[in-house]
Amino acid sequence: VDARSPEQRRRIMQAVGTNNTSPELIVRKLLFRMGYRYRLHRRGLPGTPDIVFPGRKKAIFVHGCFWHSHACPKGRPPKSRLDYWETKLLANRLRDGKKQADLAALGWAVLVVWQCETRDPVRLEATLRQFVDK
Ligand SMILES: [Zn+2]
Repeated sequence: VDARSPEQRRRIMQAVGTNNTSPELIVRKLLFRMGYRYRLHRRGLPGTPDIVFPGRKKAIFVHGCFWHSHACPKGRPPKSRLDYWETKLLANRLRDGKKQADLAALGWAVLVVWQCETRDPVRLEATLRQFVDK
């Protein structure tokens, strides 16, 4: 249950700015507004995660639903050239899995935020808080 007033909700939506903003930027702005400080695209870690909390050993990937085959309407492969897309998208999925397994092997916790999840900043905020503070 969302305990926020409509006014609070409106302000969060406004602060995050859902128009013309990349999913990664939405997540970054939201985290910053929540008071978290993070590093970006940390090289030297498997998969160069998009957002990293070095002290907490937490890493966040922000994934486009199409390119990373999310189980949502936006994550379906196109109907034309299906073989081509299936091969390409499968390779992406395997790469994603390996990155996450490598990070976990080094003791990192990993969160994947999907593009479609960034359209509900209020819910996203709760997800992020739970992950980072855990
Ligand atoms: Zn999605």
